[in-house]
Amino acid sequence: MAKVNLKTVELILALRGSGISDHGVLSAIETTPRELFVSPEFSDQAWEDRALPIACGQTISQPMVVGQMTEALCLTGREKVLEVGTGSGYQCAILSKLARRVYTIERYRTLLEEAKRRFSALKLRNIVPRLGDGGQGWPEQDSFDRIIMTAAAEKPPPALLAQLRDHGLMVAPIGSSGRQKLTVYRRDGDVFHEHTLDKVRFVPLLPGIARTL
Ligand code: SAH
Repeated sequence: MAKVNLKTVELILALRGSGISDHGVLSAIETTPRELFVSPEFSDQAWEDRALPIACGQTISQPMVVGQMTEALCLTGREKVLEVGTGSGYQCAILSKLARRVYTIERYRTLLEEAKRRFSALKLRNIVPRLGDGGQGWPEQDSFDRIIMTAAAEKPPPALLAQLRDHGLMVAPIGSSGRQKLTVYRRDGDVFHEHTLDKVRFVPLLPGIARTL
């Protein structure tokens, strides 16, 4: 008989209750062991619907927000995705189950190396991680079908909008600190249509590679 974890069931029910209905998204969250992405002292809270601290003063996003952002990307399994802000690697692991390939950029080497170890342990082989400033995009790559920013900016970085393919979608927390809104951009030629989802609070998108660690 399959092992059912009560905390997992409760979280999935809570996400459904808050309006996340995409079966693929819910199933990716259900099958991704969040306890592996947080430090051991927080593992008992890993299945609670809340953001938790990770190394380098950063945070792993709240599952509800991960669900909302992932759902907003409308993934079919065929997409090439760019994630800016690898952090713990949790959001990236979810994306890797729903897209063809995920390119992910992090500015802290420590976080990136930990995330890479998690991807290997979970045998997630369609992820391409790199150290860098994600606000500059991924210049060696052509365009991306989807882009997700997991750090907040006042305005969408032009380099990212430029790398979004025609009819592609980008989701990002946009606004000044404490007042960001999840914003979805859809490219239509040179025009970007946008609509906003919930208010959110993310760590800021910072320029350059981190000097410490
Ligand atoms: N997606 C992550 C959330 C991490 S928090 C997860 O699931 O755990 C946001 C991350 O964005 C932090 O790790 C931060 O270091 C990173 N970040 C901030 N500015 C960045 C930039 N310009 N380029 C790449 N990463 C950046």
